[in-house]
Amino acid sequence: MNVAKPVPMLDLKPQLEGLREPLEKALLEVLRSGHFILGPNVAAFEREFAEFLGVADTVGLASGTDALVIGLRTLGIGPNDEVITTPFTFFATAEAILAVGATPVFVDIDPETYCIDPAAVERAITPRTRALLPVHLFGHPAELDPLLALADAHGLEILEDVAQAAGATYRGRKVGTFGAASAFSFYPSKNLGALGDAGLLATDRPDVAAHARRLRTHGQEGRYMHTEVGYTARLDEIQAALLRVKLPHVDPWNAGRRRVAEAYDKALRDVRGVTVPTTRPGNVHAFHQYTIRIGDGKRESVVEALASAGIASVVYYPHPLHRMRPFQPNDYSLPEAERAASEVLSLPLWPELPDDTAAHIGAVIASALRV
Ligand SMILES: *Cc1c(COP(=O)(O)O)cnc(C)c1O
Repeated sequence: MNVAKPVPMLDLKPQLEGLREPLEKALLEVLRSGHFILGPNVAAFEREFAEFLGVADTVGLASGTDALVIGLRTLGIGPNDEVITTPFTFFATAEAILAVGATPVFVDIDPETYCIDPAAVERAITPRTRALLPVHLFGHPAELDPLLALADAHGLEILEDVAQAAGATYRGRKVGTFGAASAFSFYPSKNLGALGDAGLLATDRPDVAAHARRLRTHGQEGRYMHTEVGYTARLDEIQAALLRVKLPHVDPWNAGRRRVAEAYDKALRDVRGVTVPTTRPGNVHAFHQYTIRIGDGKRESVVEALASAGIASVVYYPHPLHRMRPFQPNDYSLPEAERAASEVLSLPLWPELPDDTAAHIGAVIASALRV
């Protein structure tokens, strides 16, 4: 009989308990201040996050999706424009492209990192291509150097989707500092999570930051003077105050995630039928997810073995985007994205997950594949 405690995908309790006092204090201060929209906490968080990242400016927004939509708008992307992106990501990445009236163009992924394949990007460039939208999926940086070279050669903008990779670095520099702009999500389960919905756009370009500030407040240029259609998409004071408490902990939390990943690697590296995640040289992985690949149609039996041991696991993502109705009809053939969707499995991961729990989960997987 199995008497071990159930293991969820994510346990936020350790970080919330550890920061309970400062979080409650921050919350109460906003409550007592009576200042809920675009107050001192949003301004301070924007400065602090810009410093954390190493960019000139950031604009606090209501969600990561708003950051993608507003990011595309500030880069001038709209109807008749094509934006090249990955089909193996959360829906919001390409949803944002449709939301601004542009056309998402999907290209295949690198089977090792699950991020967009730069060679495939190059083949997909047309005269209508205006931007590239790489995703640093699961916390691993997309291969940015060749993408930057392509953008340079063809006059394209790059909007980075950094929703899963706050704190990851590419050749010694944080991701989210390479493109013309980059979109962050602070959805509660992300590496830096708010206690509700929140997001941010980061940029070195003053015109992009100023435009994003107008768009988040109904395209307002001066007091009650609206010069274009915008959104209600501001980061709110309460979330900003809570995020300010958490921000200094992101790097140590990411180090905790890498420690858990190492414990999983140790348990799973030599298990036949399992491919552990790759970290390309020169990168620091933020391990938003620890995602393994299970070949030969055996994923379902591993999921079942984990479930009967009380261990959660999730398939991110079971359907590549080109298979979904908003992007159809199409005749894409994207075999690596399809294969990833049928083979990947993400395992429980949070910074405080004990090494012996990771080892136990690895052992359950190994024994499921041995039978
Ligand atoms: C979470 C996520 C988003 C959307 O962020 P929200 O804050 O939920 O709107 C976009 N892209 C990716 C890759 C994500 O993981």
